Amino acid sequence: MVKDLFNRPIKDLRISVTDRCNFRCPYCMPAEIYGERYKFLPKDQVLSFEQIERIANVFAELGVSKIRLTGGEPLLRQDLDLLVKKLIQIPGIEDLALTTNGYLLYRYAEKLHEAGLKRITISIDTIDEDLFKEMSGVNAELSTVLEGLDLVERLGFNPIKINTVVQKGKNDKKLLDLAEYIKSKGHILRFIEYMDVGNLNGWDKSQVVPSAAIVKMLDKKFGITPLEKQYINEVANRWKYNDGSAEIGFISSVSDPFCGNCSRIRLSTDGKLYTCLFSDLGFDIKSTLDSDDDKLLKDKIMQIWGNRSDQYSQIRFDTKKKKPTKKIEMYAIGG
Ligand code: SAM
Ligand code: SF4
Ligand code: SF4
Repeated sequence: MVKDLFNRPIKDLRISVTDRCNFRCPYCMPAEIYGERYKFLPKDQVLSFEQIERIANVFAELGVSKIRLTGGEPLLRQDLDLLVKKLIQIPGIEDLALTTNGYLLYRYAEKLHEAGLKRITISIDTIDEDLFKEMSGVNAELSTVLEGLDLVERLGFNPIKINTVVQKGKNDKKLLDLAEYIKSKGHILRFIEYMDVGNLNGWDKSQVVPSAAIVKMLDKKFGITPLEKQYINEVANRWKYNDGSAEIGFISSVSDPFCGNCSRIRLSTDGKLYTCLFSDLGFDIKSTLDSDDDKLLKDKIMQIWGNRSDQYSQIRFDTKKKKPTKKIEMYAIGG
């Protein structure tokens, strides 16, 4: 097992399978910038499924037990079910999950389930239809996502998690409706503090609603109780409704950073490794794949992780300032 400079192991690999998306959420891919003329990665720069499988195998040998497929919008990647089939067979991988905006689930959920995918996270910021249209950046229909949610329920995906990024002045006044809806379905709702990822969303701390405020609001309306951590590097603080109907999670990277236990690494669509969500530097490992010898790849990954000292959110918290330098965009490494 390889440890970084702060003795953190590597446990969790996030794979971005495409840099493209069918939404233009303003906090991630603002439509003014990612318009029709924007040049996404050409096909020959995108990692193939075989290359992803090879990289994932090496990570599993280094102690990774969890993989999450993400993007851009991962359901835009053709034949994603074939990649799922490959990844679930890797020895040591105990947990394979997908994060999606859910818009194309009606088309692909069944195939993915047949391929062996059982865990899914769907990003839904609001159940107000007009606000959903606005927050998707493309006038997307909420009903299409909710149909996708119904379908994954029927197929038996478990757990089903819902990610909600909370932005002050945007969806923060509509959170109780969403909570009630997801609670009635018994799924896990996870509130994510709006983060200063990337360089384009014009983030300002005044747009962040601290998780503590949402805890208070939910407790007043429904009654909630905190839960123990299930494992040391768990990112979300978990709570449950007092009536036992469902669980809620809070990912509070702004108000309560968790860098100390961060064991995640991210693989971009074009084969670069990012050791932090806020990195400005990706380490190219695609070129290492030219050799058939996996030892080269393993050594490179060990070197990258061994030199890691990232703690961006902790530093932001301690200094009360965000880093002014350029950072990788969220859609390129998938959150
Ligand atoms: N397109 C997929 C989706 O939206 O679920 C997967 C990729 S998306 C980048 C992964 C997660 O990152 C989503 O839940 C999204 O809401 C979250 N996200 C994007 N930008 C964010 C930001 N600035 N702060 C917090 N979360 C963000
Ligand atoms: Fe697309 Fe997901 Fe980013 Fe929204 S958050 S623009 S759905 S990648
Ligand atoms: Fe991990 Fe970087 Fe986030 Fe800290 S800021 S928790 S090191 S990804």
